[in-house]
Amino acid sequence: MIAKEQINEKTSNIDENIPLIEISNITKTYKHKNALDDVSLVINPGDRIGIIGPNGGGKSTLSEILGGIRKPTSGKIKRQENMTIGLQFQESKYPIGITVLDMIKYYLETFNIPMNEGKLIEILRKFQIENYKNKFLEGLSGGQQQRVNILLSLIHNPDLVIFDEISTGLDIEVRSEIFDVIKENVVSKNKAMILVTHMMSEIEELCDKYIYIHNGKIREQGLVKDLVKKHGSVHNFTWKKFKEEKAADLKKDIEKADKENKNKLDRIINSEKNKGKNIPLIKLLMKYYAKGFAVPFFLFFFPLILLFLEGFVFKSMEMPGAAGSGKPGALLHNLIGSLAIMQIISVGVFIIPQTILEFKNSVLMKRIGATNIKPIFFILTVVAMGIIFMLMGFFWTLLWAGIMFGGEFGWANVALPVQFGESIPFLLLTLVQAVSMGMLLASIFKSTTTYIAVSNILYMPIAFLGGSFLPIDLIMNSPVLKYATYLNIFKYCMEPFSNAWAGRFIFDLETGIYLAVSIAMISAFTVTASFKLKWES
Ligand code: ADP
Ligand code: MG
Repeated sequence: MIAKEQINEKTSNIDENIPLIEISNITKTYKHKNALDDVSLVINPGDRIGIIGPNGGGKSTLSEILGGIRKPTSGKIKRQENMTIGLQFQESKYPIGITVLDMIKYYLETFNIPMNEGKLIEILRKFQIENYKNKFLEGLSGGQQQRVNILLSLIHNPDLVIFDEISTGLDIEVRSEIFDVIKENVVSKNKAMILVTHMMSEIEELCDKYIYIHNGKIREQGLVKDLVKKHGSVHNFTWKKFKEEKAADLKKDIEKADKENKNKLDRIINSEKNKGKNIPLIKLLMKYYAKGFAVPFFLFFFPLILLFLEGFVFKSMEMPGAAGSGKPGALLHNLIGSLAIMQIISVGVFIIPQTILEFKNSVLMKRIGATNIKPIFFILTVVAMGIIFMLMGFFWTLLWAGIMFGGEFGWANVALPVQFGESIPFLLLTLVQAVSMGMLLASIFKSTTTYIAVSNILYMPIAFLGGSFLPIDLIMNSPVLKYATYLNIFKYCMEPFSNAWAGRFIFDLETGIYLAVSIAMISAFTVTASFKLKWES
């Protein structure tokens, strides 16, 4: 037995006399597949509905539409204004670097549930997740993840909880513990529940109503007790139904109806929809960044390594004009400028798309969606944090360049552009271009793995050859490298920046062309990204 008392005492604001959710004539079409076809359903307070039916029948799609995290292609949804929903999803893939405790705290903060450390530990103990509370979600076993998922779906004491194949992959012991939790927190509190399952015994044990769904249609619905009376058990009924439907399917070809009636529905998940939702998300993202590898590396260690390795090599290489002047070699000064601006580009190319892809492809986005955060807000938050990281990385590199070489040559000679005012616009242009490039990458790649592979195999050599890592002066002296820079899409805002950094910026025809090209690229990236970056809903 794990939970002996309710998880928290938050009271609900629902009206017991009207339906919690009422959906009418809901259709959902994925590209070519008709997943739901004209489905209508009413969920009243206290209803516990079991959803059964063969794989691919539309059960998960229906659950997610009821939960408000997926939009139907057409149809109407009415929800009680103040109701709260708890969701447990069939898939549970999480991005790297979020711990169990991070996620739970995110939920508590999002739903404004005050909870002291003692109470939290007590709940973790009840759910038997205390021992792995500091482990990363992606590294947990199926049963461990499932417990966390169930805790997350119940932690805000919702009026309706939706469980999608809750017991798949769990052993008998864990299953019966989870059942006790459900009985304690849902059944005995007379909360509404949707339970998608293949286990007929679960429906008999926990639900009072059932619906049978096949090929996106509700084929049958009623009371569990009538079903048991008529067929002996839910299992007998489903088995019979399944065989009948299969036979019917063979006879007729299913025609595809193309219904393009786009219906905009806002996701209204809980009553506190506008309060304090952004801060918990930012905190969660910070934890993700702090515990992952890429951000600390690219932001803080990478420039230091390069400064150490290359800075000392180029330090003594004096360029014309610098000889004997007591100033650093022009090459060193240029290297520092290149490196600092590279910090901005690497956040755009590596960190922004990786974050978006990892979250997009994981159940975490559904979890975040379930707390009423819209994908667009998530993306804007990632971009805003990316810009902060870009500027931090930029100044961090300059700081260390100053610490390492500034004593000898003077800070201003090492860590400042010679033409300050001329360099700023091109610095900002690089920043905007890096962000739009990051969004473009996030929109064209489907999986994080292919993106990482492609970005490392293709982008790194191009960036290296193209002058992102090497000072422009070094490149200009080599015809091969000079022409290779044209492969680097950042060249068009980086080269004017580098020129201003080195003090030889003039606004001539070439600079004008560079300016036009970078603005055209920013527009092309942004337009493509906004068309392609569709969040599946
Ligand atoms: P169930 O949960 O009953 O197994 P689903 O709701 O997951 O069924 O799926 C219903 C149908 O919609 C299936 O044919 C499935 O292949 C299709 N489907 C589900 N999700 C997607 C998606 N994201 N993109 C395309 N097709 C999908
Ligand atoms: Mg499913």
